[in-house]
Amino acid sequence: MKTKAAVAWQAGQPLTIETVDLQGPKFGEVLVEIKATGICHTDYYTLCGADPEGIFPSILGHEGAGTVVEVGEGVSGFAVGDTVISSFVNMCGKCRYCVTGRPHLCDVGAKAIIALPDGSLRTRDASGVPLNIFSACGVMAEYATLHVDNVVKIAPGMPLPQAALISCGVMTGVGAVFNTAKVEPGASVLVIGAGGVGLNVIQGCAIAGAGIIVAVDMAEHKLDLAKQFGATHVINAGKEENLVKTVKKLTGGGADYAFECIGLGKMVEQAFRALRKGGTALVVGVARGDDNTSIKTASITFEEKTLTGSYYGSARPREDFPRLIALYQSKKLKLDELITRTYRIDEAPQAFADLEAGRNARGVIVF
Ligand SMILES: [Zn+2]
Ligand SMILES: [Zn+2]
Repeated sequence: MKTKAAVAWQAGQPLTIETVDLQGPKFGEVLVEIKATGICHTDYYTLCGADPEGIFPSILGHEGAGTVVEVGEGVSGFAVGDTVISSFVNMCGKCRYCVTGRPHLCDVGAKAIIALPDGSLRTRDASGVPLNIFSACGVMAEYATLHVDNVVKIAPGMPLPQAALISCGVMTGVGAVFNTAKVEPGASVLVIGAGGVGLNVIQGCAIAGAGIIVAVDMAEHKLDLAKQFGATHVINAGKEENLVKTVKKLTGGGADYAFECIGLGKMVEQAFRALRKGGTALVVGVARGDDNTSIKTASITFEEKTLTGSYYGSARPREDFPRLIALYQSKKLKLDELITRTYRIDEAPQAFADLEAGRNARGVIVF
């Protein structure tokens, strides 16, 4: 079949919208009519050429929601008409990580980053050139053939632009709070970066009952959003002389948890220094491959501080996506407020320009 898709051809080159050939589902796969796809920094990271490991040409999109329209052989538990959300980690269910409840670290998923888990592709351009699928999804398209281990079925009735956001930004941010850090009621937290992921860390901390939530960003409009999402204090890093000292003052000696949501070694260092004794700093942002961080070694021993990472909010997608939807439906999780603007697929280049300019909490392509 033919489908429209957003294709990144080369690092730093403009994104174009193409009519591409899409093969239907083979064994273990489903064909999904995509209804909404979020615009994420990770797509942009590849598109703009910042990712030294970016692979081209590639259909972008890894934050999608839609309806199953065809089911391949060997698929159980999915039927035509099911509402699904994509998961950019493949959950094989068999490797040591999957069987110990950590499917976000799945060995199969780690390899399936630009194609289906078996390495094959169902997408070609008009001249027959195979097109990779970003993060094993490639859901910035009207239709996508996905492996069943990359889709999660949800109950009908959920608005799909909101559902799409759950599959990356919301899961990554809220999951870092619930699953990785396990923030307790009354804890004091520092959140560095109030973009798509940072806002979700902030609202996760608010839902978890954190006491003091300090948000840090360079953009005033993001700090305003941070307050809407539950930050009790905001700091403009561009105007702050001594971030660590100010955070220690606001939190009465240092934060219990510090979330770095940018992916900058320099800020990870600040997050670690702003902790109280026994505190935990979590790197949630995705750093460049050549980025490093420097930690005062003695503070690890004498102050028993922990530095760890949170990838994809330590997601167990089949368990966590429905849980996040329930939080949205009970009006605790803010998803409507995250969507600043929606776009048509033809407007995808504009959507990325708006992301680059920091205009949106989240932009969503709606089909
Ligand atoms: Zn993403
Ligand atoms: Zn696995």
